[in-house]
Amino acid sequence: MSEDKTKLAIIIPCYNEELIIKSTVETLLKVLDALVSKGKISSESYIYLVDDGSKDSTWAIIEDLHSRFGTRVKGTKFIRNYGNQKALIAGLLGVKEVGCDCVVSIDADLQQDENAIEKFIDEYHNGAEIVSGIRNDRKTDSFFKKYTALCFYKLMNLLGVKIPPNHSDFRLVSYKALEILEKYSESGLFLRGFFHELGLKTAYVHFDVKPRALGSSKFNLFSLTSLALNGITAFSVVPLRIIAVIGVLTVLGSFLLALEVIVEKYILHTTPDGWATLVILFAFFGGLQIFCLGIIGEYMGQIFNEVKGRPRYIKEKELV
Ligand code: UDP
Ligand code: MG
Repeated sequence: MSEDKTKLAIIIPCYNEELIIKSTVETLLKVLDALVSKGKISSESYIYLVDDGSKDSTWAIIEDLHSRFGTRVKGTKFIRNYGNQKALIAGLLGVKEVGCDCVVSIDADLQQDENAIEKFIDEYHNGAEIVSGIRNDRKTDSFFKKYTALCFYKLMNLLGVKIPPNHSDFRLVSYKALEILEKYSESGLFLRGFFHELGLKTAYVHFDVKPRALGSSKFNLFSLTSLALNGITAFSVVPLRIIAVIGVLTVLGSFLLALEVIVEKYILHTTPDGWATLVILFAFFGGLQIFCLGIIGEYMGQIFNEVKGRPRYIKEKELV
């Protein structure tokens, strides 16, 4: 069969993955070989590992794999641990520089089904610029992780960031999406939100999650919370707006309270002198202060959006 010209890169963020990285790379090379022999990708396709500042022998193993497999296994190493999102971004921008037509990101523990990569490529050949992996279920997750993840996606949707639930960082993106990514200079970019709101043609592929074969999860409560907070604050200024709404509600509440207090004072004569004035002023100015904070929040939201320096728009086509 004639060789397809699609050069696929597979990027893998790795943090202390010495137990598993070798077998992962060997498995993925087999996946690449199978796709080459089916004529779906070019034989120049490769794997690109990003060592996120591992403290174990992960990098030494990556060097060894590079010397065994040559340019089919490339890699880069961070000076320290920056977290999985930064490692993924480095991988995406790294393979753009090295050269590729599309890139798939997958975890080092291969919990995501590597056989779904073929479906990703099929969708890419059908014209999708982004193919998102959606987990079939969360059976392999702990009770805690399952429900916190569910709450996170619900909250994101409420705040206006419409990411489908059970979305993952297992996805294919085209070279075109990488060119757009390069225009986003903000350092705290949340990739799931970013790729979702790009507006490029997106396909979804469902996959089964396997339990981690070796080693343990590199995420803890702290890193998961910070990922979630980053996701929310990078894509939504709604929390700031909520402050203004609370302020307005409190001021309205103070008017209702005023009515009640006036009835108590002038009709029922049940309140001591001065009490009515104090209560009304207290509630009114409390509300006013919260409302003012909300207004400041609106301006902060504007500043926040400006400093991120996102491109104003991305043109899809142009006739000149
Ligand atoms: N990872 C990383 N930097 C970190 C934490 C994790 O590059 O600070 C990588 C890790 O090596 C793996 C992927 O991110 O390839 C997902 O991590 P893990 O499998 O531990 O997460 P889980 O499956 O438990 O969500
Ligand atoms: Mg995992």
